[in-house]
Order: sequence, then C-alpha cells, then structure tokens
Amino acid sequence: MARYLKGIHVPHRKNTANKPAVRMDAPQTVTIPMAMHIGKPATLAVKVGDLVKVGTKIGEANGAVSANVYASVSGKVNKIEDCLLSNGATAPAVVIESDGAMSVDETLAAPTVTDRQSLVDALKESGIVGLGGAGFPTHVKFDVDPARIDYLIINGAECEPYVTSDTVTMLTRGDDMAYAIETIARCLGIGKVIIGIENNKKEAIAAMRAMAASVSVCDVQVTSLPSVYPQGGEKVLVYHATGRVIPMGKLPIDAGCVVINCTTLATIGAYLRTGMPLVEKCVTVDGGAVAQPQNVIAPIGTSIEALFAFCGGLKEQPTKILYGGPMMGITVPNADAPVLKNTNAVLALTEKEAKLPKTTACIRCGACVNNCPFGLAPAAISRAYDSRNADELVELAVDACMECGCCSYVCPANRPLVQKNKLSKQFLKEKRVKEANKQ
Ligand code: SF4
Ligand code: SF4
Repeated sequence: MARYLKGIHVPHRKNTANKPAVRMDAPQTVTIPMAMHIGKPATLAVKVGDLVKVGTKIGEANGAVSANVYASVSGKVNKIEDCLLSNGATAPAVVIESDGAMSVDETLAAPTVTDRQSLVDALKESGIVGLGGAGFPTHVKFDVDPARIDYLIINGAECEPYVTSDTVTMLTRGDDMAYAIETIARCLGIGKVIIGIENNKKEAIAAMRAMAASVSVCDVQVTSLPSVYPQGGEKVLVYHATGRVIPMGKLPIDAGCVVINCTTLATIGAYLRTGMPLVEKCVTVDGGAVAQPQNVIAPIGTSIEALFAFCGGLKEQPTKILYGGPMMGITVPNADAPVLKNTNAVLALTEKEAKLPKTTACIRCGACVNNCPFGLAPAAISRAYDSRNADELVELAVDACMECGCCSYVCPANRPLVQKNKLSKQFLKEKRVKEANKQ
C-alpha cells in the first residue's frame, strides 16, 4: 500500500531561512506545563515560594514514558496553575517569576556516558523529547536491544512552509550534532548514520557534510532528498533514506531504524557536553501578521505574546495562531500559551493566509487517494466516519494516517479530510477504551 515516493509541492514561504537565530532575554514570567511530551505528565517537584535556577528540576518523570521538566529561568515559583493545552486537556504548570539573572543551577554536571544503559539514563535525566514533532521521550527510542538498530537516521527534512528552525540548527550546531552522533554510535555500536535533507537546502547539506567528515567512529552519510511534502514524515524519511518500509502499526525500530530530529540531536550533544537539560528552544516566529519574522531562541515557558513582542509585535490582528507549520500545526489556545519543548514554530496568520475556501460536494476525482503518501482513501474514511462505521474505519486503515494534510490540500472540493481522519482516530480510540473497560 505504500506510495512513499508521492508527495505534494507546497509553497515554501521560508522568510527566515537566511536570518541567524536571536536569543531573547528572560521574560518576566514563564509558565512551564508538566505535560509537554507523549506519556504521563511529570510530577511536580517544586512548590510555591521555591527559588529555582536555570536547569533546576521542577517536574519528575512519572513512569517509563514520561520526561523530566526543568526551570528555564532563575527566580521564584510564583504559582502553580492548570494550563490549557492545545488538545483541550489541562495540565499543572509551574509559573516562575524571573529574577532576570538567568543564574545556572550549580549542581548541573555533564553525565558520564560509557554504554547503552548510561546513555539511556542520561537521556532520561535530560528531559529531552522529540523536538520536531509529537514530543516522544527520546530515551525510550534508545532503550532497545542495540542489535536491532541498523541505522540511526537524522531528520533534517523541514518540509512545512515557513518553518526554518531545524535548518538554522544544521547551519550552526554541527559540533553538538557530531558529539551526539559519536557518543550514541559508540554506546550502541551503530555503524551507519544517515542525515536526510531536502535538495533545496544546499547550505544545510554542505554544513552537514562538513560535520559528517569530522565523525570518526561510524559512517555518516548525508542524503539529498526530493523537496516534496511530507518528506519529514518518519515513515517517508525512512523509506527514502534506506528503502525500508515500516509496516502499518509498527515503529521505525521494527525496520531496524531509530529516527531522531536534527534539533533533538543537537540538544542531546549539548546536554552530554555540559549537563544543561532541555530549557530553551529555537522557534521560527513568522506569518503575515508578525512585524519582524525571525528565529528566536526562547526559554521554554515564554508566552506566545512575549515572543511576538520580541519580534516587533503584530502588524495586524491574526486570524489564526499556530504551533508549528500550516500543514500540521495546532491552534494555540490563547496568547498566554507558552513555548513548549516541541514548539518549532509559532505562526500568526492573517485572514488572507488562514481563510479556508468554501467546501463543496465530493466530485470523486480520486486526488486525495492519489496524493496520500500511504495510499489511504480519505474520501471513503470521511464517509465511514459520518456514519460512525468503526469496522469500515479499521478496514480503511485510518490509524495509519499521519495527519499530513496532503489529501485536504489537493482536494478541489476543499473537503475537511484530515480533520475527519483525526476525528475518526479519536472515535476508534474512545471505542477501544470503552470496550476494554467492559471486559
Ligand atoms: S479529492 Fe476531494 S473531491 Fe476528489 S475524491 Fe477526494 S474528497 Fe472527493
Ligand atoms: S492526512 Fe492521512 S489520509 Fe490524508 S494524505 Fe496524509 S496520511 Fe493520507
């Protein structure tokens, strides 16, 4: 069923591609949620009135699939409140009033990493999660039998319009990336590393080739990929980089691959060298409503409002504010919402940019099927969802949908196909939970 070679051409609008990232000063307050990753929210490790420094642990990972959370500014814990997340859920968040000093926690030290277990332990301590996507705790990816890993694949494909933060990482953080590759390869006995980058990012390819030449413990190849969307999708990338197909419902490791986003890799390298956990993020701030689009290195927990203010404010009232790009981005719940661990971009889109064309009846042209990277049948899924036909949704393999939005993008009738896919997956999930509870 795989049609991984397919892809669509979307406008790039990479307005910030040639601008260096700018570090912003500590905002007055940061709001840091305990749930910025897939898995259980972290458990609060501080209380109101506590003094913290940059890198002080404020949330303890709760179970195997969870992640520690750290203070991103120095100051005082002002309050602990529920924070509204993009998925409509809430999670406890620590609000820190900054003292402006950005003093670093003096207990931080580079971890001693000599083998697989010490690497996994260090990554678990670091609070690092997948920074380009869903926020899957990174240590879990490496907590596997090393004999199962044939390739470490670095995702440098940044195919969403506007977003350039990963490209900036590849241009400026080669040293951190090389350090991480050498440590991971040594601890896990990995012989082959492939860095996948689209062929329209020539400077990033050159920077990564120079970095690859400095690595001596394993073979590092930089692969130039077709510049199509969704090249950065994990399954699409694995296929283009290795020719291997990840079976439906399986993970990259089932095809002998571990996939890591390039900014995640650089953050691992910085942590292994210094012991500084994940406390800041490079974020592309763009969209027609932003006065001065740029990449900003911001403390995690910085409000979206403060981020816009740092970029010269808004030229006009945005119609939509997104975490991430316009294809797969999620609506920011409000202007107080914070920069999260996996926030790679914040876009303030004007009415013109955000306006959805009128939906009309399906003309059965088949474009949605022909342009789905996995050959799914979005129009049929939509009909099955409308009649809440769970069996048919399973048969149509809606769970395999990566929510890339290609189907919606190409549909001449502007049908809300990806939205229906998301609803269908949620519908099946809830049904399965209900059935499991009955047993
Ligand atoms: S692309 Fe749109 S109009 Fe064409 S078959 Fe799919 S849903 Fe129908
Ligand atoms: S959103 Fe899902 S169904 Fe639509 S093109 Fe992407 S993978 Fe296929």
